[in-house]
Amino acid sequence: MTVPAKAALGGLGVLLALSGMPSVEGAKAMTVATVSCPPREGVNLHYVSNRPPLRPNPLVKLPIGAIDPDGWLLSQLQLMRAGMTGRLEEISRFLREDSGWIDPKGKGWEELPYWLKGFGDLGYVLKDPGLMARARRWLEVAIRSQQPDGYFGPAGNKDNFDLWPNMVMLFAFRSFQEATGDDRVIPLMTKYFRYELGLPDDKLLPGSWQKLRGGDNLESVYWLYNRTGERWLLDLARRLFERTSDWTSSILSAERDRAWEESGFYHGVNIAMGIRQPAVYYQQSGEERLLEAVERNYRSVMDAYGAQPGGMFGADENIRPGCGDPRQGAETCTMVELMFSDESLARITGEGRYLDRAEEIAFNSLPAAQTPDLKALHYLTAPNLMSCDASGEHDFQNGGTLVSYDPWGYRCCQHNVAFGWPYYAEHLWMATLDNGLAAALYAPCRVRARAGDGGEVAIVEDTDYPFDGAVDLTIAAARPVAFPLYLRIPDWAGGAVLSLNGSRLDADARAGHYVVIGRTWKDGDRVRVEFSQRIEARVWDSLGGAVSVRRGPLWYSLRIGEEWKRCGGTDAWPAWEVLPTTPWNYGLEIDPARPADSVRVLAAGVPSYQPFTPEAAPVLLEAKARRIPGWKAEGRMVGRIPPGPVLSAEPLETVTLVPMGCARLRIAVFPRVRGS
Ligand SMILES: [Zn+2]
Repeated sequence: MTVPAKAALGGLGVLLALSGMPSVEGAKAMTVATVSCPPREGVNLHYVSNRPPLRPNPLVKLPIGAIDPDGWLLSQLQLMRAGMTGRLEEISRFLREDSGWIDPKGKGWEELPYWLKGFGDLGYVLKDPGLMARARRWLEVAIRSQQPDGYFGPAGNKDNFDLWPNMVMLFAFRSFQEATGDDRVIPLMTKYFRYELGLPDDKLLPGSWQKLRGGDNLESVYWLYNRTGERWLLDLARRLFERTSDWTSSILSAERDRAWEESGFYHGVNIAMGIRQPAVYYQQSGEERLLEAVERNYRSVMDAYGAQPGGMFGADENIRPGCGDPRQGAETCTMVELMFSDESLARITGEGRYLDRAEEIAFNSLPAAQTPDLKALHYLTAPNLMSCDASGEHDFQNGGTLVSYDPWGYRCCQHNVAFGWPYYAEHLWMATLDNGLAAALYAPCRVRARAGDGGEVAIVEDTDYPFDGAVDLTIAAARPVAFPLYLRIPDWAGGAVLSLNGSRLDADARAGHYVVIGRTWKDGDRVRVEFSQRIEARVWDSLGGAVSVRRGPLWYSLRIGEEWKRCGGTDAWPAWEVLPTTPWNYGLEIDPARPADSVRVLAAGVPSYQPFTPEAAPVLLEAKARRIPGWKAEGRMVGRIPPGPVLSAEPLETVTLVPMGCARLRIAVFPRVRGS
C-alpha cells in the first residue's frame, strides 16, 4: 500500500524520497522517507522543549536516565567509575574540605564544578546510588551556600565578579534536578539569575574566561526559562549575549594572528565552547546569520588547523599561526567541550553533521587522551605522536610534560574529562517535534521513552558500532504506538541497507540525511541498519598531499610498539611515559582514488570490554608502506610532514594500521611515498 506523502509526513523538512511499502500485518500503514532534518516546527508533547518565543529545537534531549548504555560504551563509564573520575577525591587537591565550594571563604574555582558536572552525570547515567550520594554531598553544600542576594559558591569569585565557575556548576545543578526532581534547584537558579540581572553592565561578564564562555551561562538561562516561563529571563539572556565576547565575527584574523598568545579567541578550549554560542542565542533571536557564523567559523578553524583525522584542530594551548601540522596536539578539555558543542548544535539545528563530528572526536580522539584503564590522562593528544614522554622536548606552546599520562597533573583536563562520555551517552537518542524518536549517535544501549500519543516504548540498540556497521533495533511496547523513527545516516556512509522484521526496506539512505520510518510500532518489531564501511583515503592538500585512511567512522594509524614506563605518581596512581619500540617514519604507498587496492581489512572482531587499546583493537587494516629515512624526529616529536610523494629507496613493507583511538602512539597522517 502506498501512503500519500503529504498526508503521512506533513511538517517534515525537505522530503527527498518516499517509498510505498507493502502492508505489514497488524500495521495500518507505513512510510519510509529521507529527510535532511527532523521537523523544525512543532511541539514535543512528552519532553521539556523550547518554550515560545524560543525557536523549537528539532532534537529534544531526553531526561537523564532514559538511556542505558551497553557494550563498549557502558564499559567506558564503568572504567571511569573505577578510574580517575570516580575516585578523583583521592587525588585532587581541589576536592578537599578546604575548597571554597565547602567553605565559601576558601578558594574554589572551575575544578570542582568541572568534575562534579561529569561525576554527577556518570552516577545518573549508571544509576549508581553510591556515586549519586557522593555527588549530592557536594551539591548540597553548593545549594546551601546561596546568599540572600542569590549568589552561590565561593565568596572570592563574587568579589571578582567572576561568574565562570558558577556557569559550570549550573550544569551540575540542572542534571541533579533532571535526575532526581529536587525541588530546590529551580528556585535557586531563579534567584541566582535575578542576581545576575541586577549586576550593572560593567560587572556582568567584565572580562577573561567568563566573557569568552558566557554561552554556557546563556544555555542555563534557557533551561530555566523552559521550565518556568518567566519572561525576564529572556531579558537576562539578551544581556548575557551582548556582554559575551563576539563569536559571531570571524574567529581568525590577521590582527589576532600577530598577537596569538594574548588572544582568548585563539585558546583551543575557548574556541571549542565559543563556537556554538551564536547558535545558542539563535534560539531566541531566530537570525539565520547566527547559525551561519557557527559553520563559517568552524570551517575556517578546521581549514587552517584541522587538516587531520579525529575531528580536532591543533591548539596546544592556543592555535598558533603556522602550526597546522598534525603533530600539534589538542587539549583533552577541548575534545570534551567540542563534543558537547556538537551535541548542543545537533539539538538546536537538527543537522546530522554535528552528530558526525561528535562521533569522530569520541571514537578517534577522546579514548587516546587517557590510559586504557582511565586512571590517567594527558594534556595533549595529536594524530601524529610518536612519544608520550615527560621530557618536554616537544614544540608546544607550553613547556614541561604535556603528553605523559598522569592522574595528578593537567589540572583542568583532570577534572573536565569527566563529562565527555556521560554527556555523550545522554545524547544517543533524542525526541523529535513530531513526537518521534531519533537515533542520533550510534552505540550499544537501551532507550525508554514516550512517543506518538504518549505510549511508552523501549528500543534495544544492539551494535558493535563504530567497529562494525550493523545496528539492530528491537522495539518493546506494551501496546502498539504510532510514531516516526529517525535513523541518522552518517556523512561517511556510502549507503545503508535497511530492513524491517527481516524484509528489506526500499529506502534512500543518503549520507548526511535521516531515513524516517513512520509506522505503528509493536512489541518485537526489529529494524536493522547496515552501513557499508568502505576503506577511504583522505588527501590533505595543505599538508603536501599527505593521506589518512578511514573505514566507517574510524580513522586508522600506524601501529607503533608501546613501552609503558612509570615516570612518577604513586603505586595506586602511577604516571606513565609511553615510548616507541618500533619505527614510525613510514609513508603510505596508496592510490587515494582506489585505496582498497593497497589497504585491506586484516581482522574484524567483536569489541572486548576495553577495545581502545592496540592489543584489543577490534579491527585491523594492513597497508603498503616504505620507511622515509629523511623524516626524522625533532626532539621527541614527529618531524613536520614532508611534502609528497616522497621517493624512498627503502623496501615496500606491509604495515598494520589500528584505529587511532586505540593507539597511544600513532601516525595517522602519512606522507605519500613512491619507490625510487
Ligand atoms: Zn584542560
